[in-house]
Amino acid sequence: MNQISGQHLINGLWVGEPNGGFSSFDPERNEPLPWHFCDASTGELEAAVNAADCAFMEYRLWSAEQRAQLLEAMAEAIDALGETLTRVATRETALPEARLNGERGRTCGQLRLFARQLREPKQPAIIDLAQPDRHPLPKPDIRLDHLPLGPVAVFGASNFPLAFSAAGGDTASALAAGCPVVVKGHPAHPATTELVARAMLAAMEKVGAPRGVFNLLQGQSPRLSQDLVRAPAIQAVGFTGSFKVGQVLSQIAAGRPQPIPFFGELGSLNPQLLLPEKLEQDAEALAEQQHGSMMMGQGQFCTSPGLVLMITGAGGERYLTRLSNLIEQQGPGTMLTPGIARAYAESADQLISSEGVTLVTQGQPCTQANQSRALVASCRGDTLLANPDLLEEVFGPCTLVVTFDGREQLLQAIRTLPGQLTASVHGSEPEMQDERTLVMELAYRVGRLIANQMPTGVEVCHAMQHGGPWPASTHSQSTSVGAEAIKRFTRPLAWQNLPQSLLPQHLSDRSTTPQLRY
Ligand code: NAP
Repeated sequence: MNQISGQHLINGLWVGEPNGGFSSFDPERNEPLPWHFCDASTGELEAAVNAADCAFMEYRLWSAEQRAQLLEAMAEAIDALGETLTRVATRETALPEARLNGERGRTCGQLRLFARQLREPKQPAIIDLAQPDRHPLPKPDIRLDHLPLGPVAVFGASNFPLAFSAAGGDTASALAAGCPVVVKGHPAHPATTELVARAMLAAMEKVGAPRGVFNLLQGQSPRLSQDLVRAPAIQAVGFTGSFKVGQVLSQIAAGRPQPIPFFGELGSLNPQLLLPEKLEQDAEALAEQQHGSMMMGQGQFCTSPGLVLMITGAGGERYLTRLSNLIEQQGPGTMLTPGIARAYAESADQLISSEGVTLVTQGQPCTQANQSRALVASCRGDTLLANPDLLEEVFGPCTLVVTFDGREQLLQAIRTLPGQLTASVHGSEPEMQDERTLVMELAYRVGRLIANQMPTGVEVCHAMQHGGPWPASTHSQSTSVGAEAIKRFTRPLAWQNLPQSLLPQHLSDRSTTPQLRY
């Protein structure tokens, strides 16, 4: 693949001398791929951040229409990569072609959604008209605007090589907001990232974007990631990954001389609450849905359902029997990286060796390196209540089924749940009404509450919320998916008494876009 140079993209140029660096890796064959990558030096990091900072001076003046054209050009260029992109990404991640083609569609769809959002803002501009004759004090003319924050650092995620990487949700929302981006590519899929970055550069050139509006640094060292968050010109961070690293980087962001917002999406157990009547009626179907969802992407989704909550009863036994049968037949699957495979094996072992936890069943044994074996474990409600460690995410195809003695104990457990991205409630409408307390309590623990559906498959749309209370995300007031994600990279500014000729177009009296006037 001669398009892969292994370099960094800085200010519109591919730069970097091979310096040892690292190789791309095929987790399926457990061998290095023939693509070598430079490790970004301190000088390259500074150059990339400086390029983004310089580009900001011009890019912040770009109209919504110009930004929309850039996003659309990027979508078109990434679409045009076609099979080449899928082939490279499959080698680097072991994810199936169909999944990667779907993810490419989602990535381009996301760029196009944000372009539409820029052209047709759904929320009207807010304007307080002056009342010079108001008593006792005159009211000034005040118009609320949203300014881009400045250069944004984006950390590509291992589990979404396209939709949360170079051109993923964080980059798309920062660019839509008017912020240049410096991406730190994830070392799990550097060639995929470079291909996407090449398409993005072509799109930037096509629409005449400032050269430093999108920069890519490749590397494999905590130093690079940490220095990127420390770089003074960086004004916000978008991150998807582990709780451990998210916490390290968010503390760096908060401890800078100028603290900056850190939008980290750190994962979740996505509890499935099975209400008793529903469980009694549909135990087998619920188990089949759980199996399908927990095995998607070999459990490597932040929305993978890793915890099932139910009240003891005959339906629960039938549910466990059906889920066990399905898992027993489940073949092993390759994980994204050797490190993630290792982490899964260790955390799954830790779970099943915890006091009071029973191994219900396991999938077929692993036959190759970097594989994982699906697993279902169970415990009683009092065991869960006594051991909060059982509520830590096991990233991979693993489910803990917890049975409670009654509603009170279940309610108590829901109240102790750490923040989650999602939770699902399975039950009829009347049953949900009867169990309103449980359902509403769950709403206060999550970013998205789902009725009778599984959490995997996050719709990219205007109303989506993908985030949640700590530790699901570091910023419970924002979303990393959907059109509202753009707001993360802006800050409000009130223009008071500015002459019409100095106001941005959408706030002026001549604007044709919707305005809310008070
Ligand atoms: P990660 O370990 O959190 O790494 C994310 C990013 O942080 C990478 O770019 C990594 O680059 C960098 N990094 C690693 N260690 C660092 C440190 N000490 N200081 C600063 N930066 C550091 O995530 P991952 O590699 O994708 O997967 C590891 C685990 O994260 C998984 O086993 C899983 O538990 C979790 N995970 C969760 C989600 C989710 O959606 N919830 C998604 C992916 C992963 P370098 O390697 O170059 O340092």
